[in-house]
Amino acid sequence: MMHAESLGMSGITSSASEACVTDGDGPPLSTRVMDAEGVVLVECTGRVTVFNSQAAAHFGIPVPLHIEHARLPGCEWVRDDGTPLPPQDSPLARALAGEPVDASLWHVLRPDGTRAVLRCNAMPVRAGDGQVAAALLRTHAVEAVPASMLDASRLLAEAGALLGTSVDADARLEPLLKLLVPALGEGALLILRTTGAVGDEVLRVAASLHADAGRHALLRDLLTRYPPDPSVPGGLPQVFASGAVGRLPILSEEHVVAIARDAEHARLLREVGPHGCLSVPLGARGNVLGALMVLRSDVLRAFGAEEERFLTELAHRTALYLENARLYREAREAVRQRDEFLGIASHELKTPLTPLSLKVQLLQKQVVVLAREGKDVPTDRVADALDVVQRQVRRLSGLVDNLLDVSRITAGRLRLELEELDLASVAAEILYRFSAAAAQAGTELGLEAPVPVVGRWDRLRLEQVVTNLVSNALKYGAGHPVIVSVEAQGTLARLTVKDHGIGIAPDDLARIFERFERAVSERHYGGLGLGLYITRQIVEAFGGTVSAVSTPGEGSTFLLELPRGDIPEEWLVAHAAPGPTQSE
Ligand code: ADP
Repeated sequence: MMHAESLGMSGITSSASEACVTDGDGPPLSTRVMDAEGVVLVECTGRVTVFNSQAAAHFGIPVPLHIEHARLPGCEWVRDDGTPLPPQDSPLARALAGEPVDASLWHVLRPDGTRAVLRCNAMPVRAGDGQVAAALLRTHAVEAVPASMLDASRLLAEAGALLGTSVDADARLEPLLKLLVPALGEGALLILRTTGAVGDEVLRVAASLHADAGRHALLRDLLTRYPPDPSVPGGLPQVFASGAVGRLPILSEEHVVAIARDAEHARLLREVGPHGCLSVPLGARGNVLGALMVLRSDVLRAFGAEEERFLTELAHRTALYLENARLYREAREAVRQRDEFLGIASHELKTPLTPLSLKVQLLQKQVVVLAREGKDVPTDRVADALDVVQRQVRRLSGLVDNLLDVSRITAGRLRLELEELDLASVAAEILYRFSAAAAQAGTELGLEAPVPVVGRWDRLRLEQVVTNLVSNALKYGAGHPVIVSVEAQGTLARLTVKDHGIGIAPDDLARIFERFERAVSERHYGGLGLGLYITRQIVEAFGGTVSAVSTPGEGSTFLLELPRGDIPEEWLVAHAAPGPTQSE
């Protein structure tokens, strides 16, 4: 047997195409290495004596001078299912441990993420005393996956063209995935984060694609019936928690068992088949809007660093596009709302103007005719006409006041002049103002306010709030009783306005407190959709809340809760309003 020590290690040379083991003056003792053969000779100390260029190409690393524990820097030996091999099982480690390794196939995960399949044989090289002094590893590439088949710049250019031509976000997302499938993997998903009905985080699959038609349908079915959960593997928790890239080498049977929500879910996961997955965040302006995921059914082909860079760049561009599309949608919605509001506002302002100008014209004519005939103008006729005029002028100025209030609120110029007031008296006063109109509409108006409820509020603004709620109750509940109740609950004053009118659909309950929002058709009811918005703004300026509960067709109850502010003790005692200690 040839012993390396006796051969003289210094005689081992490394060159591009050959590795020779010489015994000093004698002829080369190792055979010439074939062009395609990688040769590595490592001493027990870790010193690398031979590492030819073919070996460097096979392992995808520059020639190392020294290695630790038989590990080639940046490389990992893996099984053919992609799972890592224990380091002591690698051919080099085994040879260094004294065990020859016959020619067989081995998988190596290279630093750039690609995988090489190599035919390797390895043998220990022993010194004169029989101790292992070095290991000789020979490698032949059976199949080397090229570092990248990705034409990143072309794909990014195509993505740019695709995203640049439309602002209709969802329509562009599936074509975008077509750029990735099959160039990068067999499947791709685009998942967006949205907010659910109760403010929770919901993941929405905005687009999905699989190169295999059968699996495409299965994937759709799977995602529709079992929408992704941010906590399951596939890199999503990582992506959403930290905006980092997530990887899953393979969705193995253990994963399926761990994540399946029921037997049907497991069946679908199995039928879609094992895939490796790379998930990158859709990050724009500091937000993670979702994730772009590529699925690879060839789990032996790990995602490379260049592929990850490309996917990250594409995800970033997609996120910017989605963000811009959102801003565009919002701007368009704001313009639509403004146009709709202008239409409604013009209509609303015009409505009182018509009877107003008719009455004035009529009066004018009568005055002219009567004057020509030398007769007096009958005062009752004038008074009637002026009544109409005054009503319409009041209506007009109410509308204009609302518009002015909105611009004051938007500009942050809502000023409050606080004084001590009794909410029960304010409510009684407002109901009195509405009593004639209510009687005319056949609406019974009731007040339940057994004791004064004192607080510090702005009188005009408080009257405005109560007026808005009562006038809505009369408007949407005409002909049915309307009850206003006032009570104190410790430091809070509560006012409720209960009607038995048309009611409000559950979906509209929150929306109606927003600017310009209405939940009725303009053909049936007038209004600018501003009353409740202004009400809420005033109530919030008082530090309170306003809310509504309703059953469509049965009526609504609006609840106002206002902190009473700093009330002198004697007021509370004098008016017997239950204070915080009394109510406990
Ligand atoms: P508007 O002047 O249009 O009534 P508001 O802001 O006061 O505007 O109200 C917004 C919407 O809320 C209304 O268009 C109506 O759909 C709904 N609404 C308000 N109060 C009631 C109520 N008491 N009953 C039913 N619907 C109501």
